[in-house]
This record gives sequence, C-alpha cells and structure tokens, in this order.
Amino acid sequence: MVPPDTIEEPAEDQVSYKAEYIWIDGTRPTATLRSKTKILADGAEPPIWGFDGSSTNQAEGHASDRVLKPVFTSPDPIRGGENVLVLCEVENIDFTPHETNTRAAAVEVAERFAAQESWFGIEQEYTMFEGERPLGFPEGGGFPGPQGPYYCGVGASNIVGREIVEKHLDACLAAGLAISGINAEVMPGQWEFQIGPVGPVETADHLWVARWLLHRIAEDYGVTISFGAKPVKGDWNGAGAHTNFSTKAMREGYEAIITACESLGAEGKPLEHVSVYGDGIQDRLTGLHETAPWNKYSYGVSNRGASVRIPWQVEVDQKGYIEDRRPNANCDPYSVTRVIVDTCCTALEK
Ligand code: ADP
Ligand code: MN
Ligand code: MN
Ligand code: MN
Ligand code: MN
Repeated sequence: MVPPDTIEEPAEDQVSYKAEYIWIDGTRPTATLRSKTKILADGAEPPIWGFDGSSTNQAEGHASDRVLKPVFTSPDPIRGGENVLVLCEVENIDFTPHETNTRAAAVEVAERFAAQESWFGIEQEYTMFEGERPLGFPEGGGFPGPQGPYYCGVGASNIVGREIVEKHLDACLAAGLAISGINAEVMPGQWEFQIGPVGPVETADHLWVARWLLHRIAEDYGVTISFGAKPVKGDWNGAGAHTNFSTKAMREGYEAIITACESLGAEGKPLEHVSVYGDGIQDRLTGLHETAPWNKYSYGVSNRGASVRIPWQVEVDQKGYIEDRRPNANCDPYSVTRVIVDTCCTALEK
C-alpha cells in the first residue's frame, strides 16, 4: 500500500472532469430524480448519453434504451473544481420527447407566449425525515408541542436541520441557481426555499436541480427529504409550492392582475390546473391550515385562505404579481408553469 503522503497531487491542468447527469424518472404519481456520472475530457461539452429506461419506469426491458439530452448545465458544488451538474430531458431513441418528459411541452408553451415575458417564483416547502419520523418528532412516538413557535424560529427547542439547510443554500448559490431565500416552516422539520423570479422553464430547471442538491446533501446526514403534500396527518401544516407569477403587463398595471386572477377561475380551469398541481391535493387543500378547498376557486388581496392571493403591496402599487397557493410541494414545476402561462397569457393576449 502507498503511504498517503506519497500520493501525487493531481496535475494542475485537470485532464478530465466529472459530469453528473440528472434526470426526472417515470415514477408516478410523483416523479423522482436519478443521476449518474460521466467522465469527460477537459474542454469537451457534455454530449447526449443513454440509460436503462426499464429501471426507471421509462421503458420495457426488451427495448430499454432511452436518451439523456443535456438542457441545463451548472457548476457542481458537491464535487467542486471543474465538475458540473447536467440536467437532462429524457427522449426516445428517435429523439422525440419521452412520454414522461414534461419539459418539452413547457418549452413549447413558454416560447409561444415569450413576448409577454412571464416570470415565476416558486416557494418549495419540504420535510426532513429520519427513518419513519419527521426530524424533530420524538423517536419513540408522540408529538412535539403544537405549531406556533417553529415558523421562522430560532433556538434548539424550535429548530432542527439548519445545518443541512445552510449547506443547501450555499450549494445552490455556488451552482448559480436563482435561489432567492429560505425559511423555517410552520411544522417542525419543515423548511422552504424559493427559486425566482426568472422565466418559466428556467424556474423549473433550477428548482429540479435545487431538489437534487437537497436530496444529495441530506443523504450525507442520513436524512431523507420528503416533498409529500401532507407528511403528517392531523393538525400539522402540509407542504406546498406556492407559485408566484407575473407578466410584463401585470408588472405594469392592476387590470392585468385581475385578468390573470379571473382567467384561473374560468369554466373548467380550476380542475385542469389542480390536476397537474401534484399528488394528494385533496389531502392538503382542505380549507384549513392556510389553504382554500381544492374544488372551490377564489382569489383575494392578502388572503392566505384563497386559492390565489394578491399580495397587499401589489394592491398598494397597483401592479406586480399574483401567488397561486394551490400547487403541492410534490408538483412538477414544468407542468405548473406550463398551465399557468397557457391560461393567463391566453386571457391577457385578448
Ligand atoms: P410569501 O410571503 O408567500 O412567503 P416568499 O417571499 O416566500 O413569499 O416568496 C415570494 C416569491 O415571489 C419569491 O420567490 C420571489 O422571487 C417571487 N417574486 C417576486 N416578485 C415576482 C414577480 N414580479 N413575478 C413572479 N415572482 C415574483
Ligand atoms: Mn451498466
Ligand atoms: Mn414563502
Ligand atoms: Mn411557506
Ligand atoms: Mn407563499
């Protein structure tokens, strides 16, 4: 065995680097993330790659090859150096989008309405688990004290998991993601980070990479991240992905704000939206715990019990953005941003 102090330093001009290819699998109702590593020669762009779709619910064993098409590359804050993260779309071997690829449709809608300059900011809530229990819940059973002191709290009796949260924030910044903040949530072990405001596809790309980083960092602590919508039954807040949205017209005037709110309530729209807002929406949008009932659309200024909230400052300024409070933490942001752009921009175009 070679003693450690005789191991050579790596050459200063790195001859290869690691690309972590990340993709969204075919697990349903809620997709999960997969990734694998490719070693690339220095200076080489990450090429198209392949994987075994029969192991990710994306193919049958007898015709299992699927294609990974790089769509968004960032520095890899886990490995550092020249290494990168490569978010991919999944394609069939004829390079058509795979049926589980929701990004392709989101790109199509975003491009169709590009002139309206849509921006999104998504508030991603999540819950940390150790084994079967949320972090901060007594191991042997029973419950922590009732909700109240935990939201944006400080101190060991109110807060768990902050080390992971801080590492994740730094990692997102180092990766160049459009992360705009973090906060502890209402239920112990529950946290939030926000991505945006940036364009619809960019928001969703960054959110998926930020989710991957969160899973990856928590893994080192033996902690599992749940994006489940109602991780603990009973008097405990669910986990959402409040989706803030504006177009250029909405950022310039109040009439467009109202048009957008009305369009989301038009015949057939509430159900169409809720059907892509994540699994278990009925369990979370009960009308309690700062939610509106999933099957009853409403909007209002400052109202955290409405489906869509107009922030008070937006009413004061007579311009700005709206917050769709319905999407679940486990939603697919490609589908969420796609339906919102489609519904609101169609109405605003008239
Ligand atoms: P809340 O008060 O609901 O907790 P947050 O501060 O958590 O709000 O999140 C607000 C989100 O709205 C942020 O992600 C921010 O980037 C986003 N946002 C701000 N302005 C706009 C805008 N004009 N259009 C879209 N999103 C916006
Ligand atoms: Mn193999
Ligand atoms: Mn928030
Ligand atoms: Mn929140
Ligand atoms: Mn919110």
